[in-house]
Amino acid sequence: MGVVSEGPFFDEEHRAFANGLQRWISQTDVLDDERNADASCRAWVRALAEGGWLRACVPGVYGGIRAGLDVRTLCLARELLAHRSALADFAFAMQGLGSAPLSLFGNVDLQRRYLPSVAEGRCVAAFALSEREAGSDVAALATRARRDGDSYVIDGEKTWISNAGVADLYVVFARTGNDGARGLTAFAVDAATAGCTAGKRVETISPHPLGTIRFERCRVPVSRRIGEEGEGFKIAMATLDVFRSTVGAAALGFAKRALDETIAHVKSRQLFGAPLGALQLTQAAIASMATDVDASALLVYRAAWVKDSGAARVTRESAMAKWFATEAAGRVCDRAVQLFGARGVVRGEIAERLYRDVRALRIYEGASEIQQIVIARQVLEG
Ligand SMILES: Cc1cc2nc3c(=O)[nH]c(=O)nc-3n(C[C@H](O)[C@H](O)[C@H](O)COP(=O)(O)OP(=O)(O)OC[C@H]3O[C@@H](n4cnc5c(N)ncnc54)[C@H](O)[C@@H]3O)c2cc1C
Repeated sequence: MGVVSEGPFFDEEHRAFANGLQRWISQTDVLDDERNADASCRAWVRALAEGGWLRACVPGVYGGIRAGLDVRTLCLARELLAHRSALADFAFAMQGLGSAPLSLFGNVDLQRRYLPSVAEGRCVAAFALSEREAGSDVAALATRARRDGDSYVIDGEKTWISNAGVADLYVVFARTGNDGARGLTAFAVDAATAGCTAGKRVETISPHPLGTIRFERCRVPVSRRIGEEGEGFKIAMATLDVFRSTVGAAALGFAKRALDETIAHVKSRQLFGAPLGALQLTQAAIASMATDVDASALLVYRAAWVKDSGAARVTRESAMAKWFATEAAGRVCDRAVQLFGARGVVRGEIAERLYRDVRALRIYEGASEIQQIVIARQVLEG
């Protein structure tokens, strides 16, 4: 794979970051076991922290690489880590997503309490928004937080939560008012808090620590509220605004890996007395894959660059980046499986693994259909 971070979207610091991370990845050996996703995830968090890479997940005053959250750095990290391993990308991404509501909206006390430990890998973070009846429809969220003196008492169940049972910190979105999306509030909840328990684990097609979290009379001090009462929806959406581009970046990393592996394969696989890559139908597939990869890169880098250039919101750009890059990665990995022939569907083969790894990206952090609705609304509103 060529060095990423070329082109007009990046500066020297980005290039140095990407080159350093690429070198580190090629020299680092971390437990990466599909059957042991929790241990692998913890191992990646430790290794990424030791390498100093988790510093990209927090602002400069708390040990971060740049003054604020730099979306291009987050995207470069996810692209390169996804190219290597889904669990490496996952471990990095959750430190960023799980702590971003604090970086973006937390007060100084909350930021000091959590962000340095997130960067040092001592605190594993999670983002707990979804519920069984509230996935795409966030306003249907039913988990309640009732004010009681200097505390809130949280009751309800979150589902499909990445790092459930692994995390030390859950950023939890709960209902404090009855007025739909405007009645939500965000809280930083320590996993060890009484009444907060990780429940049923969910097995997915690609390794991913995922499960439910139950809150039963879980008492959280008012000081752990992020922002004001009723700002939960705004906090969740602003966080996703930043991280949707990074999901696109992870998709790009998987797609690039699929393309790299496929190029090597079609050059070496002999068919009808010549390399598979000499056949024009193969070349058509390679052309589609390469164009999907480049178009994804341009949309992802554009969204990240617009955000880093000071835009308050990048809803349209990040939705386009996420939608296109994740759908494109699905197409690219599917073509890779096809060009590998039977080897493409053998468990453990790289094409088979990538095919599974990219699928969930079209569902989480706003499914493709939701991105289309968001884009259309933005375009029609002008
Ligand atoms: C691997 C994985 C990790 C996840 N990690 C987290 C996490 O860490 N934290 C968290 O809070 N959540 C997490 N989620 C949950 C994820 O965000 C939700 O699954 C997602 O928002 C979709 O919600 P749902 O599953 O309830 O599907 P639904 O909301 O039931 O949607 C089902 C389908 O209907 C489509 N649809 C919805 N609305 C419309 C519409 N108006 N028009 C047309 N089609 C529509 C959707 O696009 C989708 O295709 C994760 C999910 C997965 C798979």
